[in-house]
Amino acid sequence: MLTIGCHLSAAKGYTHMAEESKLIGANTFQFFTRNPRGGKAKEIDEQDIQKFLERARTYDIHIILAHAPYTLNCASADKSIREFAKNTMKDDLKRLEYTPNNLYNFHPGSHVGQGVEVGIKNIIEILNEVLTQEQTTTVLLETMAGKGSEIGRNFEELKQIIEGVNLKEKLGVCLDTCHVNDAGYDIIHDLDGVLQKFDTIIGLDKLKAIHINDSMNIIGAHKDRHQKIGEGTIGTEAFARIINHPSLKNLPFFLETPNTLEGYAKEIALLKKLYKEE
Ligand code: FE
Ligand code: FE
Ligand code: ZN
Repeated sequence: MLTIGCHLSAAKGYTHMAEESKLIGANTFQFFTRNPRGGKAKEIDEQDIQKFLERARTYDIHIILAHAPYTLNCASADKSIREFAKNTMKDDLKRLEYTPNNLYNFHPGSHVGQGVEVGIKNIIEILNEVLTQEQTTTVLLETMAGKGSEIGRNFEELKQIIEGVNLKEKLGVCLDTCHVNDAGYDIIHDLDGVLQKFDTIIGLDKLKAIHINDSMNIIGAHKDRHQKIGEGTIGTEAFARIINHPSLKNLPFFLETPNTLEGYAKEIALLKKLYKEE
């Protein structure tokens, strides 16, 4: 069965996101752990969590993805910015244990001029401080488009980060189709080749989730502008191959397209139609 959902607002809690997912034909969802610009998280509502965990069972929602605020920068040259990222991630991971065994995705960060090597060293340092043996959440590094000085623009950079982290079993990768296209990987004509590269460099066992987005830009543009499925440069046929690829078809897929709930429902229906059950 295709595991598919979209990015939802967490403002009304977990139960509400489960209900919305059900409504649009989804069986998973992604949400921001707090205001995407950072800031304080909402208090944990244990009643809502209990209700959600029940709903998740009836609706067959077995994995969800929490997204860290995209303004966190673990790679920053500024110590206070790194401290803020570290504390936010620590707090997020603590809160996510209320809904155990799920995924937490973050953007590795931007080195803003000090160089990739220093940036990667900073990211590793933070991961080694926030990851714990006890946590049940898997933390995912997102593949980035490589705009500005973004780290994670290629598989080698992600590999370098993973290499430096002690608790590697708590780490994985979330592949964003728009980002890898914009980063220069040809998932349209050579999906097999791209996944082979991923396997050789990082290992496909580390791939835990897919952000399924079309792109407004051509391959290698290093831009990062998401488009609705089938309305961008990647196109519907390529997405049919992506969701059915033997290395990908059992992973959870998350839409982050510029859309309304109604639009997401349409995309989900389309992807379900294109999906071949085994
Ligand atoms: Fe992201
Ligand atoms: Fe993404
Ligand atoms: Zn993006």
